[in-house]
Amino acid sequence: MVMRKQEAGNGPGVHVQAVRQAMARRLLPWFDANRRDLPWRKEPREAYAVWVSEIMLQQTRVDTVIPYFARFMERFPSPAALADAPLQDVLKCWEGLGYYARARQMQAAARRIVEDHGGRLPASAEALAALPGFGAYTVAAVGSFAFGLPLAVLDGNVIRVLSRLSACGDDVAMPSVRERFRSQADALLLRDRPAACNEAWMELGALVCLPRGPRCGECPMQDVCRARREGRPEAYPVKRRKMNIPHKTVGAAVILNRRNQIMIAQRRPEGGMLAGLWEFPGGKIQEGETMPQCIARELEEEMGLELEVGPELTVVHHAYSHFTIALHAHFARILSGRPRHLECAGHAWVTLDRMDDYPFSKADLKIIEALRARPSPVRFKDIFPGA
Ligand code: SF4
Repeated sequence: MVMRKQEAGNGPGVHVQAVRQAMARRLLPWFDANRRDLPWRKEPREAYAVWVSEIMLQQTRVDTVIPYFARFMERFPSPAALADAPLQDVLKCWEGLGYYARARQMQAAARRIVEDHGGRLPASAEALAALPGFGAYTVAAVGSFAFGLPLAVLDGNVIRVLSRLSACGDDVAMPSVRERFRSQADALLLRDRPAACNEAWMELGALVCLPRGPRCGECPMQDVCRARREGRPEAYPVKRRKMNIPHKTVGAAVILNRRNQIMIAQRRPEGGMLAGLWEFPGGKIQEGETMPQCIARELEEEMGLELEVGPELTVVHHAYSHFTIALHAHFARILSGRPRHLECAGHAWVTLDRMDDYPFSKADLKIIEALRARPSPVRFKDIFPGA
């Protein structure tokens, strides 16, 4: 057994017996006394609510998730309600949370839950793992929190705590190291309290063992923590691989008509991470192009339109998980052509006050904000006075 070997030697593994004892004697009582009263923790735990919250919490902070969770549960109170809803309504409810694939996959999974499981989430790890979007983390979280299955949850918080307890000098981005932490988390799980164990680790990471400035003096695990003993808890977890995050410069057209409506386009269902959302159409700049040339070319390719590209409205800077963008939004008007859906799923002409009916990504929402922040209403004849 990997754990026993690590426990016996001085390797980077968590010293399991000591940690396990400290967990049972001090961490679990600490958790019982300090656990946050979050809306998805209401007892008895409802599997659908657990699932929705766990998907929303991936990559997103708790305080951001709370209002989204409340709205989502009110609008889609069951897997059947989620399965039946138009995708656009689901995306609208998700708008601003990012990682929109999560919402699309949740709806796909809800449909499978209705078709194959009578509308209730299945209570076995195998059946959960067969649902769209259920990776190891989601299976363990829903399985343990909702059904009491003995599955260890491994998220960023848990990895940080385990790496500090063991003063692990290995790069936690490496799959082999993550696998080792998984084995360790499994070995630490008390089979009669899997949900409490998992949540206690996660809560310790969220409230005490913080990425910056861990509160070691208040920590129930301080006696068995090697990073604390070394006096440098922030040295862990070790992340050696630095990714070069690519940067993209992108143009977007805010196309006006003479009725002061603005044209928006819907991304295709297979249109990558923002599929199904609405946008101000445009695309990436090519070498040697000016921004107006980029926008004109993109709209020709995407919708068969010839544009006059006018003044810049705003530049939006936004960071996605794997790249950053500078999104240059320019006003534009159509010189010739009718919108065709060559590289998009549809288009709509909408006034600024009806934009809220459509789901947009965060970057496009910032363009809407910029339109609303203008001192005077957006009018075609003001932007293109000679046209
Ligand atoms: Fe984290 Fe400090 Fe607790 Fe160690 S003692 S687990 S570093 S908070």
